[in-house]
Amino acid sequence: MINVTNIRKDFPILNREVNGKPLVYFDNAATSQTPQQVIDVIVDYYSNYNANIHRGVHALSQEATDKYEQARQTIQKHFNAAKAHEIIFTSGTTHGINLVANGFSSLLKKGDEIIVSAMEHHSNIVPWQMLCERTGAILKVIPMNLEGELLMDVYHTNLLSDKTKLVFCNHVSNALGTVNPIKEIIDAAHKVGAAVLIDGAQAAPHIKADVQALDMDFYVVSAHKICGPTGEGILYGKEEWLNKLPPYQGGGEMIAEVSFEKTTYAALPHKFEAGTPNICGGIAMAAGIDYMNAIGFDAIASYEHELLDYATEQLLAIEGLKIYGTAKEKTAVISFNIGVIHPYDIGSILDKLGVAVRTGHHCAQPIMDFFKIPGTVRASFSFYNTKEEIDVMVAALMRAKGMLE
Ligand code: PMP
Repeated sequence: MINVTNIRKDFPILNREVNGKPLVYFDNAATSQTPQQVIDVIVDYYSNYNANIHRGVHALSQEATDKYEQARQTIQKHFNAAKAHEIIFTSGTTHGINLVANGFSSLLKKGDEIIVSAMEHHSNIVPWQMLCERTGAILKVIPMNLEGELLMDVYHTNLLSDKTKLVFCNHVSNALGTVNPIKEIIDAAHKVGAAVLIDGAQAAPHIKADVQALDMDFYVVSAHKICGPTGEGILYGKEEWLNKLPPYQGGGEMIAEVSFEKTTYAALPHKFEAGTPNICGGIAMAAGIDYMNAIGFDAIASYEHELLDYATEQLLAIEGLKIYGTAKEKTAVISFNIGVIHPYDIGSILDKLGVAVRTGHHCAQPIMDFFKIPGTVRASFSFYNTKEEIDVMVAALMRAKGMLE
């Protein structure tokens, strides 16, 4: 059970006002808010042990190194990775995907096929298109239905073949909230010998993924969606794949020996961690994960589903409101439009009333093209939101509708 009153006390930002109204923050799918416990970890780092890691013999450097490597272990444990060095610190999901896409440049040849889903974030489309341009590989797309569910028959029957080398799919769609059947996607891809990258950016706030049970080859996550800081994230990769991929960036930290004749690379995870990392970011990411685990992912999921059901019911009572993404398996994300009112106009009025929602194409233009709309209003809920806040949004929407229709 979630004690939302107590939880809200942990988030100082939830006390602020916007445009003279109490903040109602429903843009959690873009970035979650940060609890005091994580803010304290950040302050502690810069107040007490800020130093560069791995290279120093002095106390601060060793302390920072220990905390950074402990953070890697916390994240390893959270996602149940077999080894700590299968967790690569990145600047976020986008970085992780580009690292893998870049690595596959040397492993693909002309005519090889890559499969993506129709509901990907641009960051899980564009790097693969760039990879196709470099290698001559062909990009194929798993289509979806009007509910926002992937057409798995087409995937199994028409798309997967012995030419398939890679499959990429998000665990949860940021624009629709659909939870995709990733276990089925992964198992079928493995049967034809293809590697699978799952974009966990939107799943991580709601679902604790077990990377060994799910058996994906790569999983990517951003810290800023799980109560951690921006500019930080992880790539999980199976050891055998991370050993096969070449380094992404060259520089300090990622080498074993350097001479002008030849350089050899460091072992995992350092091979993929060139330069000084976001040390505090990694430590704070683990603190965010610890915070969420203390509440419990089962409790988070069941409370957020209550919010989702309540909000869906309230929103559908508004005449002319249409929800995009009505999959059976959904997280607490609702994308909608009211009649032909532009989502931006609704978002602007809601902002004046203190309600923060996202409007636009949500970095998923192919989804908007599929539904033949310019964009949607997206309200996304977290475990610190309340039904009362949903009521405030619904009242604000009624006001916006009255003004704009
Ligand atoms: N994939 C999905 C599904 C996302 O929702 C996002 C963030 N909106 C990303 C990738 C990119 O994450 P980041 O900007 O943190 O790299």
